[in-house]
Amino acid sequence: MNLTILDAQLGTGATDRGRAGGRGRVDLEIVDGVISGVTPHDPDTSRRATDPGSTVIEAAGATVVPGLIDAHFHAYGVGLDSLEINAQPLSLVGIKGAARCGAALARGFTTVRDVAGGDAGLAAAISEGLVAAPEYLFTGPALSQTGGHGDEHPGVLNLCSGHGHMGEVVDGVDALRTAVRRRFRMGAHAIKVMASGGVVSPTDPIRFSQYSEEELRAVVDEAGRRDSYVAAHAYPAQAIRRAVRAGVRSIEHGNLLDQQVAEQMAEAEAFLVPTLIAYDAMNRRGDEAGLSADGLRKNREVLQRGQDAVRLALAAGVQVGWGSDLMGSLEDEQLGGLRLQVDASGLEETLRSATEVNARLLQLSDRGRIEEGLRADLLILPGDLADDPSLLWEERPGRVVIKEGRVVARDGRLLGPDGS
Ligand code: ZN
Ligand code: ZN
Repeated sequence: MNLTILDAQLGTGATDRGRAGGRGRVDLEIVDGVISGVTPHDPDTSRRATDPGSTVIEAAGATVVPGLIDAHFHAYGVGLDSLEINAQPLSLVGIKGAARCGAALARGFTTVRDVAGGDAGLAAAISEGLVAAPEYLFTGPALSQTGGHGDEHPGVLNLCSGHGHMGEVVDGVDALRTAVRRRFRMGAHAIKVMASGGVVSPTDPIRFSQYSEEELRAVVDEAGRRDSYVAAHAYPAQAIRRAVRAGVRSIEHGNLLDQQVAEQMAEAEAFLVPTLIAYDAMNRRGDEAGLSADGLRKNREVLQRGQDAVRLALAAGVQVGWGSDLMGSLEDEQLGGLRLQVDASGLEETLRSATEVNARLLQLSDRGRIEEGLRADLLILPGDLADDPSLLWEERPGRVVIKEGRVVARDGRLLGPDGS
């Protein structure tokens, strides 16, 4: 099916040609899910030149940006208490996860990277079109050392959590190599490791590094031989330094980084994936969502530093992406993460983070910009984004989500295959 978007203003991620004449307006031609034309809008001829078989969207007054990409999403993060998540059958968690994916698509996210959990079943259900969802890339359960961020049991129980829906405790180089190979066998996009303490886990202060460098190197080596890469959860500068030295490509959170580490990241061409909304939402609503008192205290340790980390990283030349990291009922704040990053780095930079930079991070050369030959994953915002940046994070009537050339959501609601 062909689609024509008439008289749209391009947001960032647009081609230079599309921007010709300053804030010029363009027509977008979409054939078989791919952008086949980006041409200056001509009020006299554009409409007549439209293919009669094409569905037309009138976009006068609206802004079109590339479909959003969330590089730190948790489909299986159906609550803030991981013991409670693991007490539910995987099929139930998968169905709840599918609903969380659908909600993300309705907001304008056309691709997500799930960095703790996900499995081949959910991925197949999505690619077979059984559920409406963004394109779904997953790492499988995040790898954690005993007593690390993915070890979900309180220390007094004297056991480790073993294999959960979102994390798996694996110690030692040989066991890690096997665990990585198993993940790629089931279709993992990349590998996630816990390289420092975290907020929701019970026995690991945030400031400590996790996994030996030898273990991290083994994981990076295995992933590298699959042309894939490693994403590491890490807050303190020391933990980030060790991870990047071991070859980790994607630093998740990174709130406590300093200038020296930011420079090291830039040098190594590592990415930072800030997850600003997670701390903000947990701070306001963690209590109601089931976060422990200790978790709330740990959250405050990193909350204040998140936006500074984004600024430091950008100043050092780090490629800064974007992620949400919202668990349980907090998921409805996903778009609010864009607002927080705009506060830190501005509208243009944030949009690039959530589209072009994230696409590069995810090794997806077919999306993240509006250009001929790229996938028609698009978000139409009802107004002039340059004048009103809140159009990006507020779900107003007229918001239209297009995935692979098909209108999949309108006004925040998912549409069926027939467009109704
Ligand atoms: Zn994390
Ligand atoms: Zn996370």
